[in-house]
Amino acid sequence: MLDENLRSFDLYNPSDEHKMLRASVREFVVAEIEPQALEFDRKEQFNLPLFRKLGQLGLLGISAPEAFGGSNMDALACVIVHEEISWSDPGFALAYLAHAMLCVNNFARNASDDLKTRLLPKLCSGEWVGAMAMSEPHVGTDVLGMKSTAKLVGDHYVINGRKMWITNGTLDENKTPADVCMVYAKTGEKKGRPLISTFMVEKSHPGYSVGQKIKDKNGMRASNTAEIVFNDCKVPRANLVGAEGDSMLHMMKNLEIERVTLAAMSLGIAKRSMQVMNKYARDREAFGQPLAAFGQIQKYIGESYAEYQAARAYVYDTARKMDLDKGGQRLDTDGVKIVASTMAKNVADRAIQVLGGYGYVGEYVVERLWRDAKLLEIGGGTLEAHQKNITNDLGKNPGVLF
Ligand SMILES: Cc1cc2nc3c(=O)[nH]c(=O)nc-3n(C[C@H](O)[C@H](O)[C@H](O)COP(=O)(O)OP(=O)(O)OC[C@H]3O[C@@H](n4cnc5c(N)ncnc54)[C@H](O)[C@@H]3O)c2cc1C
Repeated sequence: MLDENLRSFDLYNPSDEHKMLRASVREFVVAEIEPQALEFDRKEQFNLPLFRKLGQLGLLGISAPEAFGGSNMDALACVIVHEEISWSDPGFALAYLAHAMLCVNNFARNASDDLKTRLLPKLCSGEWVGAMAMSEPHVGTDVLGMKSTAKLVGDHYVINGRKMWITNGTLDENKTPADVCMVYAKTGEKKGRPLISTFMVEKSHPGYSVGQKIKDKNGMRASNTAEIVFNDCKVPRANLVGAEGDSMLHMMKNLEIERVTLAAMSLGIAKRSMQVMNKYARDREAFGQPLAAFGQIQKYIGESYAEYQAARAYVYDTARKMDLDKGGQRLDTDGVKIVASTMAKNVADRAIQVLGGYGYVGEYVVERLWRDAKLLEIGGGTLEAHQKNITNDLGKNPGVLF
């Protein structure tokens, strides 16, 4: 017999804390994020004052330890926040993700206590905005092919190289760099493989600058994307994160929470698109009937709902199992990103189709969501990279299929 507890278990809000978090973020989204979303997309601008308010809600250091100003929450909580914000403004959510997941979460788990004491409280409060720089102009998927180097000279590292596509890489049109950027660079080679190290580069460090703000992106226009330049950039030895040459493991581990929160963003996009198309299909009439009466429209709505529910269950089930300290969820974090990103793009696309001409303009929201959704098939790993990882992982561990 099925246990009543199991039947009433809420996969999406497994604890009261998760439920309260969702309610408070949703309230903030409706009151503060939604009213500015279209405007900042159109202006291609990052809303920095609004971003800083996330610090007051405890969201900027959501998974960082309380001792350093964080909220010490789990992966499922991170998924809730990304899903809720992306219901309204995926571009703004991407800037949040770059700060809270790519920079703060990784830093909080791998840096020395001294460095954390100095930097984390500012990152958690919103006084500082963080970024993470892995990709380069010539290297994305093939990340180990990075060309940026760091060399120890006395008590400083000297970093040279260029990083590309960095979210929060600039804070504004004046090429103001992120207050701190977590940068991956090569510090040597062992048996023909590069040794990668990680550095916290601060705005005050000489030789750290913004090359260009990337303009005219298809979507995610409410987040800034930039090329960053390191020109004999001098970084104190104390700003090395973890041991020299030892970053591969934490880089791979942090990609797991990146993928699952990007998948969560897809859920927010799909949910909003579903709501818009469902309502419109009932309000709008053609040939004397609501659109919802037509079989072809029902196919759009029905398939979207089923695909959204399937993706949502997979994302939350994966997040539920994640341990942010240990990692070890590469297979399913790749899996959720494949399923959820393409699902969101398709659902937003169908929503535009159901709305006809109205779907094609900003006021009805779904055209923006559709543009934002496409990035989720590219950023944080392309679909092809996820396919490759899954195939490799299943080759090494076929037992997971039984
Ligand atoms: C808006 C935006 C924000 C971003 N933010 C950040 C950030 O904050 N920090 C950061 O470090 N990076 C960031 N990125 C970079 C992003 O992670 C990369 O774009 C992504 O990893 C793909 O790399 P690439 O663009 O160099 O494409 P490439 O790696 O050159 O790939 C091009 C195509 O070739 C395919 N391909 C490559 N290798 C293989 C293979 N082995 N098998 C099959 N197909 C393959 C890819 O899947 C893709 O279809 C951002 C990108 C964008 C667009």
